[in-house]
Amino acid sequence: MEYFRKLGIIEPILKAIEDEKFEKPTEIQEKAIPLVLAGKDVIAEAATGSGKTLAFASDIIQKSKKGKGIQALVLTPTRELAQQDAAALGDFSRYKPLKIVAVFGGMSINPQIEQLRTADIVIGTPGRLLDHIGRRTLGLSKVNTLVLDEADRMLDMGFIDDVKKIIQECPRERQTLLFSATISAEVARLARRYLNEPVSVSAEAHVDPKKLTQVYYDVPDNLKFSLLVYLLEHERAGLVMVFCNTRLNTDFVANNLKAAGINALAIHGGLTQDKRNRVMKQFHARDVGVLVCTDVAARGLDIPGVSHIYNYDTPRDSNDYIHRIGRTARAGKEGIAISIIASRDYDSFRRVMKLKDVTITEERLPEVKKVRIKWKERQKTIRPGHRTYRR
Ligand code: AMP
Repeated sequence: MEYFRKLGIIEPILKAIEDEKFEKPTEIQEKAIPLVLAGKDVIAEAATGSGKTLAFASDIIQKSKKGKGIQALVLTPTRELAQQDAAALGDFSRYKPLKIVAVFGGMSINPQIEQLRTADIVIGTPGRLLDHIGRRTLGLSKVNTLVLDEADRMLDMGFIDDVKKIIQECPRERQTLLFSATISAEVARLARRYLNEPVSVSAEAHVDPKKLTQVYYDVPDNLKFSLLVYLLEHERAGLVMVFCNTRLNTDFVANNLKAAGINALAIHGGLTQDKRNRVMKQFHARDVGVLVCTDVAARGLDIPGVSHIYNYDTPRDSNDYIHRIGRTARAGKEGIAISIIASRDYDSFRRVMKLKDVTITEERLPEVKKVRIKWKERQKTIRPGHRTYRR
């Protein structure tokens, strides 16, 4: 615990950290916690899996007092990340109990209204937070710490105006902490506008390149799905994530994997919150070995023990490739990222291959037996804003 104590973390949180069996701080914790605890505004370049949650949790928990109104607000891009942050804050505050409330869409609003009355710390997605602000069920006048978690994701998902509105509802006199996997020009602009003389810290990508193998298969279009089945059946794997670019494709792949006898489930933005929670629970409990997902649905999820990442579709935005591979080879474990490339992926894959520090080697195509596809892939003309694009 000495390492953590030296960062300035108070006793009750140290005790909770001991329960978690963390041995030493991660890079981002080491760099950010002393600054955060000194009251500075901080821009932290750190992805999910870096240990960033403790970096802001240690500050929020330390400063907050029970029953004194909402003193900390954490904005997250997705419902899953809101739940995950709330659970982590709950764990870290075990010996200094505070009322932590997560609010997000897809759930009935009334119980949230009730909970918010006595909340000390609130974590939420922008849409639902604005909804509460509009109903005057969320008072932010006591907020002294504002956290923007996964800011790049929040902006990618088009929440910029919502985020700005929420920030403007918070008192000017406050500490603001911004966490982002990548600091894009847009994120930097947001930081310049709303952070006060911020200090920047960054942690190395949490993926250890030595532990991560990246390969691709160049496959005829009509064998793409069959190759996926072949590899899933032949590769010895722990938990597996299969990434698709659209909701339609996610359902197509998950349904056909199930039909082929593989234990798979789909998660994407088109599912109800209840359904998403159930899927995640099953995946965490390892009832299901293969999670087929879109980038949006996977954002912010911290799933330990993912050994294989499949890119069934190559992401159009090459940054998503980095986010995807970041789900495996964590915490010293080995991981493999496998891209299945057919003609429709060529353009996107060329962009991925140009990424700095990314080396993907070609694997020889095994002899693949054609798997009969039961659920048809619904090919639609793709144009921006069209349903097929939705993730
Ligand atoms: P986060 O990036 O905050 O979502 O954390 C990713 C995972 O790492 C979570 O499962 C944490 O419980 C875990 N973790 C956070 N800090 C440490 C640490 N210092 N040592 C080991 N594991 C950690």
